[in-house]
Amino acid sequence: MTSDLKKRFIAGAVCPRCAEMDKIVVYHQEGKDYRECVSCGYSDVMHFPGAGRELETRVNKTEEEKKAEVQVIKFPASGNVAADPKTKKE
Ligand SMILES: [Zn+2]
Repeated sequence: MTSDLKKRFIAGAVCPRCAEMDKIVVYHQEGKDYRECVSCGYSDVMHFPGAGRELETRVNKTEEEKKAEVQVIKFPASGNVAADPKTKKE
């Protein structure tokens, strides 16, 4: 029985085996994070070097780092928006 495991679906995740979307669940067991496809049964261990530490770092991220991250994410491959940093959709 695995009913005590808390499995969470990952929205938008695509299974590397059957390519179904929204079929991937993740769960934590024995100190490791696993991902599993509920459609085809694919499963894998996810490796997070220093998992707890990494989360802590994100929380303590400085404003500059946050801005830098936003810039990277918003940097589009298509021309005009990138040319004018004042063009924001928010
Ligand atoms: Zn699958």
